[in-house]
Amino acid sequence: MLKKWQKATALLCLLFSLFATGCGKQPAANPAAPGEKATETQGSQPDDDRSLRVVTNGNFRNLLLNGAETERGYYDSIIWPLDMYTEDSPWMHCGNLIYTDYQTRTRIFLCSTPGCAHNNENCTSYIRYPRGIVLFANAAETRLFCMATGAMDGEVYSEDDIGRIYQMDLDGSNRKELLRLKAYESFSLNDPVLSDSERLYVCVIVTKSATAEPVKELRSINISDGTWETILNLKIAENVFSAYDGLIILGDGEKVTSNHTYEYRSFSMSRNESKKLYECDIGEYSIVVNNTLIIANKTVEDTGAIKIIDLLSGSEKIIDDIPQEAVGMVSVTDLFDDIVRWAYIDKTEIGEAQEYLVNCATGEITKITLRYSEFGGTKRLVPIVAETETQFLVIKDTTDSKLSLTNAEGIPFLCDWPNREVYALISKEDYRNNIPNYQDIEDTI
Ligand SMILES: [Zn+2]
Repeated sequence: MLKKWQKATALLCLLFSLFATGCGKQPAANPAAPGEKATETQGSQPDDDRSLRVVTNGNFRNLLLNGAETERGYYDSIIWPLDMYTEDSPWMHCGNLIYTDYQTRTRIFLCSTPGCAHNNENCTSYIRYPRGIVLFANAAETRLFCMATGAMDGEVYSEDDIGRIYQMDLDGSNRKELLRLKAYESFSLNDPVLSDSERLYVCVIVTKSATAEPVKELRSINISDGTWETILNLKIAENVFSAYDGLIILGDGEKVTSNHTYEYRSFSMSRNESKKLYECDIGEYSIVVNNTLIIANKTVEDTGAIKIIDLLSGSEKIIDDIPQEAVGMVSVTDLFDDIVRWAYIDKTEIGEAQEYLVNCATGEITKITLRYSEFGGTKRLVPIVAETETQFLVIKDTTDSKLSLTNAEGIPFLCDWPNREVYALISKEDYRNNIPNYQDIEDTI
């Protein structure tokens, strides 16, 4: 499940707040007298907004299975099966927004209307899927957003093929369109959406004509009124990776001698200024979380290493002697509370996935033994779906299930749901210690 590391990314940006050391803030010219508030020096640049963080999973997005996380709950969606289509368009899908509430430990349609069949535009949970959707919350976790991706191949035949962003209250009410692209524009789904206290930051690819080179623009969108401006022009090969301490971290794969080298730079919106941070060979697998680049390396026969690079300071640290009896690639995925997940497919005939938690601060390595049963009985590692400060939402099991829906004509419909995920909460501490002390979620869908 590729989306898991993003889940860590989004909230870690909140958890890993650092004290700023510079970033345009000048010391006050005259120290404040006791009892007085210090004021900033006249003429200093405004601070970067330090609430800026990643709110979607960018490169690792699974288009139709993705969610928005907040400290109180997790939003995802279901898509109706083919038989339920009520529109002529082959691209038209329908579905529902689903909410998992951590306090009540229930999973519900995002709708509070009693007796609602959740099958038309009057329901806050009902959604149409013109192509794909991407769900996310803003940095302040006050609004829910649904990006309808539109046609990603530039083939625009109808309004549904045009990308747009809807926003709504966290209970799904007051849904309205925030932004609509032009027919020659598309969202760049390889770049995560960022948000700070007032705005979203979204990459858009603009192709003005069939012969013109497409360009990528990073746009700043005001959540309150949908007005936007382009704040940075990017090369197509350049990607947003992360945001940290008010800075956007970008990686450029074009300035390279090999396909595996990246140059990272930061961009400060308040100063409209870019700064080169780091140039490196990307190892076999890497992730960027906040200001940290983590690279997995296979070293010798049976051990591996993780290289941890602070992109802002350039400092490097290596943790080695990590087990890696691997076939093919080793990878690093989640990062939470300084702990990274190290994974590989082992050399046995079965070729099972093996994973370890590596504490980047202490070097401690713990094998993960928690497993869940996938349809057919295959045992898999327990995926992390979302994260709060103290606990994870995970998939603890799957079941052979049915989904009961009502189509637009009012006809009840029962469809198979053979590999339905069973969600549960688990404290981070239990997860780290391989204790399957799950708090079950009641699934009412
Ligand atoms: Zn409803």
